[in-house]
Amino acid sequence: MSRFKAVFAPYPKAAALGVSVGIAAFPAHGGTLSQLQHNADAALYRAKSRGRGRVCAFDRFLDQQMRERRRLEDELRRAVRENEFFLLYQPIVDTLSGQPAGYEALLRWRHPTYGVLSPAVFLEAAEESGAIVEIGAWVLQEACRQAASWDENLFLAVNVSPRQLLSVDLLDQVSGALTASGLSAARLELEVTETSLLEDRVEVAQSLLRLRALEVRLAMDDYGSGYSSMTNLRRYPFDTLKIDRSYVAALDKDPVAGVIIDCALALGRSLRLRVVVEGVETEEQRAVISSKGPHLMQGFLFGSPEACVGQAASEDAELTWRSV
Ligand code: C2E
Ligand code: MG
Ligand code: MG
Repeated sequence: MSRFKAVFAPYPKAAALGVSVGIAAFPAHGGTLSQLQHNADAALYRAKSRGRGRVCAFDRFLDQQMRERRRLEDELRRAVRENEFFLLYQPIVDTLSGQPAGYEALLRWRHPTYGVLSPAVFLEAAEESGAIVEIGAWVLQEACRQAASWDENLFLAVNVSPRQLLSVDLLDQVSGALTASGLSAARLELEVTETSLLEDRVEVAQSLLRLRALEVRLAMDDYGSGYSSMTNLRRYPFDTLKIDRSYVAALDKDPVAGVIIDCALALGRSLRLRVVVEGVETEEQRAVISSKGPHLMQGFLFGSPEACVGQAASEDAELTWRSV
């Protein structure tokens, strides 16, 4: 049993054909047709995730991985029911005033056995199982509810995953969260990672345009970590560019990183986009970055993700600034 998928490039004249193959053999990899199909699919998925154009056979390791993934997916569904998720907020600081201009909501899972888990552990499984749509709806509701009590000058940034972007419910979820909380749309910014824009351009573009029509802002997150940064800026209606933190991290070792940050800032200025530089951890990085003149900065130097926004968080941020 083998599964394969042909991929055509979206150009009218030249067509590129690519094939990925997943193999499951009877009886070693399954005794029934549906088992074989399932395992061939898993092998195909592995082939594609290893860079496409490959052939992969099912094996015991993949079997083990799938069992663990299924367990994680079951646990995610339970976690949604049991309200095990919560949000932390990280300040996004205005370069000139040094004050928080807004906060990004960051998801955490309070797992009964493993303690607090970061999205790196469960986001992929949530995305693949589709649980992210339900989790994301809760994130929007909860973050908007909390942000409605913040100072009116502060904006709220919420991450939206590729699966959510393609979900027909996203628009209703966003407008529902705004209505229920009373938060004005102009204070909500939805962050979309650059890599999620690779998926399905027409549907993603439609989804972004519909969100834009609600008057929420759109940010391209982790800019520079994907492939087609320039095209994405032309194609999609972004208001904000968040430069991936890997560039700041490389500043002291790699001169090219600084040049790329300069280019992204120039691009932001020309396209009239607000620019956030992510991952500022040290005073040296802050000095270099702020001399380049971005609008906003985010990073552990200004504050780690915290449970609440308000007096304590603002005072912490102020202290950081007064002490520099
Ligand atoms: P992101 O949206 O780029 O969020 C920034 C991540 O970088 C956060 O990790 C934050 O804790 C971390 N960070 C912030 N400042 C620094 C710094 O100075 N240095 C370093 N090394 N890291 C810093 P976190 O919370 O683990 O989130 C990871 C990613 O998970 C996020 O990246 C975002 O893509 C995704 N995510 C988080 N919350 C949600 C959510 O509610 N929904 C969805 N769909 N994705 C989420
Ligand atoms: Mg983000
Ligand atoms: Mg980011």
